[in-house]
Amino acid sequence: MNLLISKLLNPSLKTLTPYESARRLLSGGTDWLNANESPFCNEIQVELSQYNRYPDCQPKELVQAYASYAQVGSDNILVTRGADEGIELLIRTFCEYKKDSILICPPTYGMYKISAQTCGINTVEVPLREDFSLDVEGIKAVDDVNLVFLCSPNNPTGTLLNEADITEVLSHFADSAFVVLDEAYVEFSTQQNWATMLETYPNLVVLRTLSKAFALAGLRCGFTLANQEVIQSLLKTIAPYPISAPVAQLAQLALTENAITQMREQVNYLMLEQTRVRHALANAPGITLKGGNAANFILFHYTYRTQLMQYLIENGMLIRDQSKQLGLADCLRVSIGSRSQNDRFLSLLNHYLTKSGDV
Ligand SMILES: *Cc1c(COP(=O)(O)O)cnc(C)c1O
Repeated sequence: MNLLISKLLNPSLKTLTPYESARRLLSGGTDWLNANESPFCNEIQVELSQYNRYPDCQPKELVQAYASYAQVGSDNILVTRGADEGIELLIRTFCEYKKDSILICPPTYGMYKISAQTCGINTVEVPLREDFSLDVEGIKAVDDVNLVFLCSPNNPTGTLLNEADITEVLSHFADSAFVVLDEAYVEFSTQQNWATMLETYPNLVVLRTLSKAFALAGLRCGFTLANQEVIQSLLKTIAPYPISAPVAQLAQLALTENAITQMREQVNYLMLEQTRVRHALANAPGITLKGGNAANFILFHYTYRTQLMQYLIENGMLIRDQSKQLGLADCLRVSIGSRSQNDRFLSLLNHYLTKSGDV
């Protein structure tokens, strides 16, 4: 390593592997079913004036629009550069360098641990049970954590956490930790919505995003929902102008009544497609479905996943290898795309399975 870097690099980062986002791992290809993005590319326009001025730190109209969508008050919301920034802000605001810990339940979203690591914060892991439910007793046995990250619907398993389990965790940590419930996929499942529970559980924090159901991953816009004092604390840490003016404008347009109706129609389409693809995968030789159907992706097991991935990549079809995740050996995750993309995925898969001789 370069001498100056090795002398000065933050010691917490020496062993850190950066988050392997779908975009970092693989570029090219024609069909991107590896990042749980929406296949819909909706047209939107921005007003191209007044860019000589700094934007508001928290664009008021956008905050109000999301507050009304999520049915919470305007002072319960922080707009961030994607939900990912919300994760980092929570860690930087509520954990002390080299002293505090967060708790996560793998297999789950990778950024909780990576954000903690870049901030010099320790991560305690309490794995999900075999059926991907919370190990509540295991979680309660851990004391001295400042943040508990739960993800429901969970990425990459597509499963919802049990409501009573979440409640039990919230109550257990009522006086000791914030429970951060990541609802990045909430629009794909009508069963739970924790944003409306902020008053009941003062230690609840909810993460949301426009990247998945709202089809705006390129925008980088997310929301942290919490009680007012929590939001005020996060405002101490956030950059002075985190949301660029065009992002605020576009995000606001995505939250008009018509745009929300369109989003719901697109979610319905994707969930019908999900059922269709799940059914086809369930009948494919050698393939075992894993996890649940509460989000816009499907997790499955295939013993020769490396060869299958290779074949798909050669044909421009990118899906996501999840085999490094705890308990997910030889598991792959495919995002639900447009009907024609899903068809192309299924036909490549069937072609591979019949020709390969793997099975
Ligand atoms: C995609 C995703 C995020 C990140 O969302 P951004 O708003 O794009 O940063 C957060 N949590 C989970 C579980 C995700 O799958």
